[in-house]
Amino acid sequence: MALVVQKYGGTSVGTVDRIRNVARRVAKTFDEGNEVVVIVSAMAGETNRLVALADEISETPSEREYDVLVSTGEQVTIALLSMCLQSMGYKAKSYLGYQIPMLTDNVHAKARIKSIGDEKIRADLKEGTIIVVAGFQGTDDVGDITTLGRGGSDTSAVAVAAGLKADVCEIYTDVDGVYTTDPRIVPEATKMEKISYDEMLEMASLGSKILQIRSVEFAKKYGVVVHVRSSFNDNPGTLVMKEDNDMETVLVSGIAYNKDEAKISLLRVPDQPGIASQLFKPLSDANITVDMIIQNVSHDGHTDMTFTVPKADFKKAIEIVQGLSGNIGASGVKGNENISKVSIIGVGMRSHSGVASKMFDALSAEGINIEMISTSEIKVSCVIDSKYTELAVRVLHEAFGLDKKAQEETTI
Ligand code: ADP
Ligand code: ASP
Ligand code: MG
Repeated sequence: MALVVQKYGGTSVGTVDRIRNVARRVAKTFDEGNEVVVIVSAMAGETNRLVALADEISETPSEREYDVLVSTGEQVTIALLSMCLQSMGYKAKSYLGYQIPMLTDNVHAKARIKSIGDEKIRADLKEGTIIVVAGFQGTDDVGDITTLGRGGSDTSAVAVAAGLKADVCEIYTDVDGVYTTDPRIVPEATKMEKISYDEMLEMASLGSKILQIRSVEFAKKYGVVVHVRSSFNDNPGTLVMKEDNDMETVLVSGIAYNKDEAKISLLRVPDQPGIASQLFKPLSDANITVDMIIQNVSHDGHTDMTFTVPKADFKKAIEIVQGLSGNIGASGVKGNENISKVSIIGVGMRSHSGVASKMFDALSAEGINIEMISTSEIKVSCVIDSKYTELAVRVLHEAFGLDKKAQEETTI
């Protein structure tokens, strides 16, 4: 008997019929002799609807109340799925985050999981009950509801799989695996049979929403092999797992894009020690994650400093930076929300040079200007004008031979 953790995303539970479809899949896994713990997201579009309601009420809603609100979507789906399983003759029981308990820190809207209680789950499983857990939510030390950030049900699932030492962790979604890039933008994208934790971490952190980044961090830390697959067919999906030798033979394995960042520039900052810490400490104290940072060559003891932050934190960040700009001695602050970041990713890049320049050539051939660049040993990212995002992704996908046809030709 295996312990199987399955997570179903928003589209997979988006209607009553789809919830019935999920129930049939869960029941089949149970009937095959497995113990089953299911994690579900809210119905497709529901979390967005709740976020929009909060935005309508207030420009800066309290983060505690935001979590109380946006966590409700998952309460609906766990109850509906459990009812459906029960109506099919199975024992099923739903759990909210605090009932498990799924303990997190108290950073609302982007809480981190600290521990997962397994007593109730194990007792129920022993009695032949199918467990249905609300994804995306937890509870902090004082019993307040927290949420794990958008896409957080993936993290709930991998954390539960790690906590219970499950044999299988399956993430069911609306595509049948991880592709070389978002198949919605490039229909010729190729499905990967497997991808290393490090590549998946980069893809997720660089914007591929297929898995939330923290779920991949958890998977890597606890060695959970994650199987990403479709809830609409039985195709084998993609295994997210430890790097193996095959993976290094591919130079660039995927292209990611992110339209959710904004750029802030501080103009004519005195080029002296301590400035960066005066600027970035208050941002990190406000839980704002700064991504790319560029400091220009200094002229007359002054330099421009540019960095990117999540669009969701843009207003808060710009207020903080405007408040600091006088003290730091900057001559002004500029913001731009119309940017996006395109990235190429591959563990094979570690041992090859010339990959970045091929990327720059491909972008420049289309007249796309690169505003910022950052590199690591397995990725290169460029910030560009957001209106060129789709074009850039397509061009890079082709330039690195990732299209289905090109791959078939190389295998022959
Ligand atoms: P769920 O609601 O099941 O969590 P998401 O919408 O969060 O689903 O994630 C699935 C979506 O991720 C797909 O519909 C696809 O458009 C998008 N996506 C982005 N990059 C990739 C990629 N490299 N491979 C597959 N899907 C991707
Ligand atoms: N419902 C949440 C969201 O839309 C969590 C998830 O779907 O993973 O972000
Ligand atoms: Mg998701």
